[in-house]
Amino acid sequence: MHKQTIHDVELRGKRVLVRVDFNVPLDMEDNTISDDSRIRAVLPTLRYLIHAGSKVVVCSHLGRPKGKVVEELRLAPVAKRLSELLELPVTNTEDCIGPEVEQAISRLKEGDVLLLENLRFHPEEEQNDSGFARALSGLADVYVNDAFGAAHRAHASTVGVALYLPAVAGFLMEKEIDFLSKALTDPAPPFAAITGGAKVSDKLALLENILEKVDFLLIGGGMCCTFLKAQNHEVGQSKVEEDKLDFALDLTGKAAEVGVKLMLPGDVVVAESFASGVPFKIVSVSDIPESSYVMDIGPQTIESFSAELRKCKTVIWNGPMGVFEFAEFRRGTEAIARQLAELEATTILGGGSTAEAVGELGLADKMSHVSTGGGAALEFLEGKTLPGVAVLQDK
Ligand code: ADP
Ligand code: MG
Repeated sequence: MHKQTIHDVELRGKRVLVRVDFNVPLDMEDNTISDDSRIRAVLPTLRYLIHAGSKVVVCSHLGRPKGKVVEELRLAPVAKRLSELLELPVTNTEDCIGPEVEQAISRLKEGDVLLLENLRFHPEEEQNDSGFARALSGLADVYVNDAFGAAHRAHASTVGVALYLPAVAGFLMEKEIDFLSKALTDPAPPFAAITGGAKVSDKLALLENILEKVDFLLIGGGMCCTFLKAQNHEVGQSKVEEDKLDFALDLTGKAAEVGVKLMLPGDVVVAESFASGVPFKIVSVSDIPESSYVMDIGPQTIESFSAELRKCKTVIWNGPMGVFEFAEFRRGTEAIARQLAELEATTILGGGSTAEAVGELGLADKMSHVSTGGGAALEFLEGKTLPGVAVLQDK
């Protein structure tokens, strides 16, 4: 990575403001965290700072409080979980700027950890307000961004603050950028991209950016319906993005021109309504009944996609193959995940739902990299510059 990291700066005795993404799912009933993987993901950075003798000031957003204090979105449960994982006390302040915070920080000793209150309780955070950014920067000597999941947002704590402090990347940020940029710039061939999810319109920029980089482009999920329709297949009640039919045709044509094998499902699982617990069946894409919905890729498609994946040395995957939230339509997503888990290849997953599906299957550890950033990973793979990365100091 061409950005400086915490390896490149003096840390001992320094107050280090670390922006993390602790936007964890909460179980509102008992005020606990239902999935702590985002907290676990930044432990290497926090442990490194602790051992380096920094005074560690951690900050994050949680949910969408829209610039007001929302009691349910306080970070106290996160501080508790972080403390358990670090096996250290974690002080938790009631705000993220102001005199109480300054006093708490002045009491920190080397290796102590403090967690600031939800940044988004202040509307100035999302406005990237310079006064708020300056107030945050006044709390520290060094700024570390380890919140890859928020790096596509130009907010005070991801962009503004970096103007006033030495700004470097944490280890999670470094790992995310290293994996994603290697896939885009120097992938071991053959290289496949698997795309799925609900809509083509969400993935236009991704498809355009990766088309000329990959050898195989496998398209599943709800978005394949627009591609199928563009090839004159009827897709029943499934959503077709009429205004994207030309895009689908163009992409298919371009793929042929540049020698990319673009593959659509040959068979799909269809259901009589978009629901769980309803009758479903496997049909060829040329026989999709008028009354039904495409819910998943079929077994022949799983086999033909897998056969190409087995040839690959690099695979990126964004978007589930079917409506995996319903158990009976999880098979395509599960089969592709199991195939990737078996490959001796670099396998990189981006996208919130994709990560969730693979996490539920217990296969996340079998992938080379599961991005912690849904929107951020997508924008990176689209070839965009992430503002939270751009502001970090170059090597
Ligand atoms: P990611 O978050 O990984 O980028 P997306 O947000 O693009 O993925 O898409 C995830 C959603 O796509 C899931 O909620 C899933 O139910 C939906 N989806 C997948 N296949 C279909 C389908 N055939 N029809 C409708 N929705 C689908
Ligand atoms: Mg999503």
